[in-house]
Amino acid sequence: MKKAIILDLDNTIYPVSSIASDLFDCVFEFLDSLAVELSAETIHMAKEEMKRRPYQQVADQYNFSETAKNTGAAILKNLEYDLPMQTYEEYKHISNTPIIKFLVTTGFTKLQWSKIKQLDIERDFKDIYIVDPEVSPATKKDIFAMIMNNNHYQPEDLLVIGDDPESEIKAATLLGIDTFLFDPDSRHPHAIVTHSSKNLKDAVAVFS
Ligand SMILES: [Mg+2]
Repeated sequence: MKKAIILDLDNTIYPVSSIASDLFDCVFEFLDSLAVELSAETIHMAKEEMKRRPYQQVADQYNFSETAKNTGAAILKNLEYDLPMQTYEEYKHISNTPIIKFLVTTGFTKLQWSKIKQLDIERDFKDIYIVDPEVSPATKKDIFAMIMNNNHYQPEDLLVIGDDPESEIKAATLLGIDTFLFDPDSRHPHAIVTHSSKNLKDAVAVFS
């Protein structure tokens, strides 16, 4: 039995693919304009990665020029999502379970908050933290440590639930916190995790 759980947002509570075409319209248009400096293949891969990872990491991975990186960041910084959104069907099993919940998500502050509003999940959480590389160098690991500190939790009191072995899962592991990897497409069979499942609702049995 855990005292609290920490959830990721993108691809954990809702699928980014469900909003990507509307959301990234203007960003993808901008990426297409980088054809002068990047190959078509690179642009295609960068677009796909944007559905899974923070923009800054994608820009670095695909060697965007400093100018291109900044232009993309400027577009994303002002972006909000204002169309209806839905959580994964199974998320209700998590939200309906009475345990203290924290939301920790990486991305642009305005955009992440707009998604939280559209999903109508704000009241599910005791605290919500947006890790925004444009605003602060703090990482998910820093925020997890702060949550433990502020609430007097030990690592064993917590479970971190997310979809990315390199992000929240890694941060939690480094702090000795148990992890639940939600891996609906079995993309990460070799990830180092405490628990892993294709079904989000399986997390309930782990923390309750
Ligand atoms: Mg995620």
